[in-house]
Amino acid sequence: MTAQPALDRASPPPRDALSVLNHVFGLPDFRGAQEKIIRHVSEGGNCLVLMPTGGGKSLCYQLPSLLRDGCGIVVSPLIALMRDQVAGLTEAGVNAAVLNSTLSYEEASEVERRLLAGDLDLLYVAPERLLTPRCLNLIGQAQIALFAIDEAHCVSQWGHDFRPEYIGLSVLAERFPDVPRIALTATADAMTRKEIAERLKLTDAPHFVASFDRPNIRYEIVDKQNAVTQLKNLIKERHAGDAGVVYCLSRAKVEDVAASLTEAGIPALPYHAGLDASVRARHQDRFINEDGVVIVATIAFGMGIDKPDVRFVAHLDLPKSVEAYYQETGRAGRDGKPSTAWMAYGLSDIVQQRRMIDESNGSDAFKRVSIGKLDALVALAETVHCRRQRLLGYFGETQADESCGNCDNCLTPPRVRDGKVLAQKLLSCVYRTGQRFGAMHLIDVLVGRLTERVKQFNHDQLSVFGIGRELNEKQWRAVLRQLVAMGHLRAASDAFGALKLTDSARGVLKGETQVMLREQPEGARNRAIRDKS
Ligand code: ADP
Ligand code: ZN
Repeated sequence: MTAQPALDRASPPPRDALSVLNHVFGLPDFRGAQEKIIRHVSEGGNCLVLMPTGGGKSLCYQLPSLLRDGCGIVVSPLIALMRDQVAGLTEAGVNAAVLNSTLSYEEASEVERRLLAGDLDLLYVAPERLLTPRCLNLIGQAQIALFAIDEAHCVSQWGHDFRPEYIGLSVLAERFPDVPRIALTATADAMTRKEIAERLKLTDAPHFVASFDRPNIRYEIVDKQNAVTQLKNLIKERHAGDAGVVYCLSRAKVEDVAASLTEAGIPALPYHAGLDASVRARHQDRFINEDGVVIVATIAFGMGIDKPDVRFVAHLDLPKSVEAYYQETGRAGRDGKPSTAWMAYGLSDIVQQRRMIDESNGSDAFKRVSIGKLDALVALAETVHCRRQRLLGYFGETQADESCGNCDNCLTPPRVRDGKVLAQKLLSCVYRTGQRFGAMHLIDVLVGRLTERVKQFNHDQLSVFGIGRELNEKQWRAVLRQLVAMGHLRAASDAFGALKLTDSARGVLKGETQVMLREQPEGARNRAIRDKS
């Protein structure tokens, strides 16, 4: 928020939304759906707001809190963020305070006194604090303008950020039915949205959904060969001297990749939770303040980092969901200038993520949901259509154009061919070898390679031995991945990555189901934009 001269407390505060926006927040106009949302909430309506990070959610509750009588209560799980917002608001002359566990008893008592005296416009409260009988009583005695529930996806048990204390917030609707409630989140898939609405009793309230499109980001997903070499080429050919973020799954890989980039003359720094806090802080500072630093990180990096000129985000490992992919790639190009979201991905990524889900100690239901989320991301990675459309479609948003003109598939449309026979050959091979083998062995059998393992299991005696000589290994891998993405094959959770047939494979084997496959060029290509497997 832009700092503005403090309000002249002697004059009556301006009451209409635009003049508050101009005079208190120092902003000329509303952005997107803000005006509609602010009018709705100011008039006492409940709603759910879905807006991407940086979209301007805060104003949607801050402004109505100033327009309505009483104090707006903001529920947020992020203590640092609360502090920053209160500092900014105070500077702009708004009476804002925070109530959380970092306050002393005296400080908290003073905040409570101000609330009861009607001396606060906005009060930020951590959810567990708000739900104490003492705090609920206090709120019952004060005049409340609205409840804003920020990061509302924390109420979703299936989300990546579940916080049990959020569940208790349903009490707000019961105890204070006359106070408007506005829930806000940047996580917008249909399932999470439904869960938020149900748990926060907003099923009858309107949902305001801002566009999640980031038109300046070019999405590219390439076939993983030697990921680090591919990354170096990407940086050297198209992002030399640019700031970027590279995501890897493990700490060890973060260290390796950072070292390898540094060796290639690219200024790269590692960032993961295993590093000393002081080292992490130093690397983060350099990334933010120096030009052209590449940070190589686990997903521990990024929450709350607001560097506008990140020119590329690269994934060397598959994230676990479309939401995670969207959020991580969304750190590129906040300044609106052309930026790249690049990911190298292969079959082993699917196998690895599957194993992590299966080995996690979540419930069966949790695992099922996680697998569904992974499948959606794999489908995005394998699609031959516009990636942006697919990505936004996942968030329930339909695009007017079928082609965005700014993703790899739109820029170099992949060639598609009837893959029925290839699919049948591969699925038969899986079946004949007993659904116990991984990609490598299956491809050996298909192309007729007489390896020790093939001999050991007498797989050279099978009718499927050598029936796939028309494709090379790389091409078969691509077919395999696409069949996994289409759901005809599934990677088992054992350590060998055995592939098994699913129910839908039967239709393919019988010739009843059409299979369109992306054509895989022979030979390896490294140019990111041209390589679309
Ligand atoms: P979110 O909570 O959705 O991530 P914020 O509320 O923090 O986003 O806003 C992101 C940035 O956009 C802030 O710097 C804010 O000042 C700015 N912003 C919000 N609304 C407007 C507007 N109407 N005009 C200009 N800038 C805005
Ligand atoms: Zn596109």
